[in-house]
Amino acid sequence: WDENTVAVVTGSNKGIGFETAKILAEQGLTTVVTARNEELGRSAVVKIKEAAPSARVLFHQLDISDAASIDRFVEWLQSELGGLTILINNAGFAYKGNIFGADEAQVTLNINFLGTRALTDKLVPLLRGPARIVNVSSRAGQQHIVKSPALLSRLTSAKKPEELVAMSREFVDAIRAGNHSALGWPNSMYGTSKLLLSLWTVQLAEQLRSQNIMVNAMCPGWCRTDMSSQSGTRSAADGADTAVWLALRSPRELITGEFWGERSTIPW
Ligand code: NDP
Repeated sequence: WDENTVAVVTGSNKGIGFETAKILAEQGLTTVVTARNEELGRSAVVKIKEAAPSARVLFHQLDISDAASIDRFVEWLQSELGGLTILINNAGFAYKGNIFGADEAQVTLNINFLGTRALTDKLVPLLRGPARIVNVSSRAGQQHIVKSPALLSRLTSAKKPEELVAMSREFVDAIRAGNHSALGWPNSMYGTSKLLLSLWTVQLAEQLRSQNIMVNAMCPGWCRTDMSSQSGTRSAADGADTAVWLALRSPRELITGEFWGERSTIPW
C-alpha cells in the first residue's frame, strides 16, 4: 500500500471516520477526507497532516444524502485522482432520544442506506484493483430486530437493491400509517437503516465477486463519539480498527459479503 492507493472515507471530519482516515494516511495511502461541512472537513485534514506529515491527504465536500453533492464529488475524484481503490462508507446518522416518525425514518434511511448506496453505485465504475468497500453498519441492525418471520424472509431473500429500496418505503409508509409494529417492523429507525445497509452489502458483494472486489459490512462497537454522546466503551480509534483491517487485507484472499466486529465475522 502506498500513495498510488487512493482511499475515500465518508464522514471523516470526526469520530470513527476521522480516525479511519488518519490511520490510512499514516499507512501511506492517498487519503481523501470527505465531509458535508467544508470547514470541518478541512480542519480534519490539517489534524491528520499533523499526525502524518508526509501523507497525501485531500479534501472534498460530500453530503451522501445530496445527489448533486455526490455528482460533484465523483467528477472531482475522477479528474483529480482517476479513481479509487478503497471506499469506507462510514458516514452515518441517528436521531437522539425518543424521536420516531415517518419523516425522521426517511431522513435516517436517506443517509445510512439510500445515500450510501447512491454514492457507492457512482464509485464502483471508478474502482481499480485490489478494490475494497467497507460499509460501517451496526449490530443495532441485526436481523432479530425484525419481529415478523415473513417480513424477515422477504428482506433476506431479496436479490436486487430495488427490492430493499421498496421495502424501505414500506417501513416509512407503515410508520406513517401507525402499523409498523403490527407488520413486524423494528421500533428503531437507525436499526432498520443499518439492517438494510447490511443486506445490501451482501447483494453488492455477490454482484462484484467476479471482479474480485471485496465488499464487507462491519460494526465498530459502542464507541465514544458524538453519535453515542461520548458514552461508548471503546474509543473512536478502536472503532476504526476493523474497518482499516478489512480495507488493508491481503489482495490474495477474497473475503467478501461478511459482517465483522473486532476483526472477526459475527452473526447478524
Ligand atoms: P459521529 O456522529 O461522530 O460521525 C458521523 C459522521 O457522519 C460525521 O462526520 C457526520 O458529519 C457524517 N455524516 C452524517 N450525515 C452525513 C451525510 N448526509 N453526508 C456525509 N456525512 C454525513 O458518529 P460515529 O463516528 O460514531 O459514526 C461513524 C459510523 O459508525 C456511523 O455509520 C455509525 O452509524 C457507525 N456506528 C457507530 C457506533 C458508535 O457507537 N459510535 C456504533 C455502531 C455503528 P457531520 O459532522 O456533518 O454531522
